[in-house]
Amino acid sequence: MSPSVLAKTLARGFTSRAVDGFVGSVGNTPLVRLAKWSEKTGCNIVAKAEFQNPGGSVKDRAALGVIEDAERKGLIKPGGTIVEGTAGNTGIGLAHVCRAKGYRCVIFMPNTQSAEKIDLLRMLGAEVHPVPAVAYDNPANYNHQARDFAKATENAVWTDQFDNTANALAHFRTTGPEIWEQTGGAVDAFVCATGTGGTLAGTGRFLKEKSQGRTQVWLADPPGSVLHSYIESGGALKDRSGSSITEGIGQGRITNNLGTFVDQLDGSLHIADEKSIEMIYDLLDTEGFYLGASSALNVVAAVELAQKLGPGHTVATILCDGAYRYQSRLFSKAWLKAKNLESAIPSHLKKYAVL
Ligand code: PMP
Repeated sequence: MSPSVLAKTLARGFTSRAVDGFVGSVGNTPLVRLAKWSEKTGCNIVAKAEFQNPGGSVKDRAALGVIEDAERKGLIKPGGTIVEGTAGNTGIGLAHVCRAKGYRCVIFMPNTQSAEKIDLLRMLGAEVHPVPAVAYDNPANYNHQARDFAKATENAVWTDQFDNTANALAHFRTTGPEIWEQTGGAVDAFVCATGTGGTLAGTGRFLKEKSQGRTQVWLADPPGSVLHSYIESGGALKDRSGSSITEGIGQGRITNNLGTFVDQLDGSLHIADEKSIEMIYDLLDTEGFYLGASSALNVVAAVELAQKLGPGHTVATILCDGAYRYQSRLFSKAWLKAKNLESAIPSHLKKYAVL
């Protein structure tokens, strides 16, 4: 085809359904009905396939949201630097968006993180600074180092994923409306876990507003997080006790992204690791989805909420990312044994633990 014919073909709308590069590929994920759990509960258990985002997780939306917010506010100019303290999906999302938009990406993370995570960020062009793993109240904590680095660098922005509400706003503008549209407005409840709180508060606030309060919004919380006890006790932030194998979720404080929305939540479900790990294997076996632990925890919570509401309801949740970033743990017999989780996996599902 000659160049002029190609140009005419494109002009006629040949690519009219094409999205614009990496940035245009973020969001608009399918809403998936999970057949077995829908049938078991008599409800529609539906989940946003966020692992289909181009950077592989729900955090691509937040990463794009905080960078475009900084651009809109004139906080960053072409060729500038994006700085964040993160060990996980946010850093990966930021690194991708920085490549797509031509920014330098600088990531601070605790030096306890796996070599795979550091390598991946570096392959995506990010500059990684592993720093000593010290508590938040220590000025050497990775979050404070990220903030200080941005302050000392010209044309740089610390995206501050926990307290920068452009994160929740990205979900208010995209995830919430997509779920509303994909369910035809018939969404009785939304439930998910929280790291920064962006997904839960942004999506939840939109659904509550749009449904004029008809959509219930619930938190799903792993062990080691204080939020469940905060909601159950009506506002007391108790000390963390316990820990969880679920990565990227659980929180010790009310972040700005969760903000006052925490008091609008309809309830909270505490999900034990045994249930999350069993659901990882179950979703692989029955649906063919290879998902991380936070996705599985969310599905356990959606099923429990459906059982509370009774048959006939639609309950939505989030499939945050795939298992690929965690497979050396989640599918390793030795790791499951070390975590005392071997017995949580029914015998007919044990065949998937091949590592
Ligand atoms: N699941 C995974 C795997 C994550 O990385 C995160 C983000 N830390 C979450 C869930 C929670 O998302 P949010 O930060 O929007 O609360």
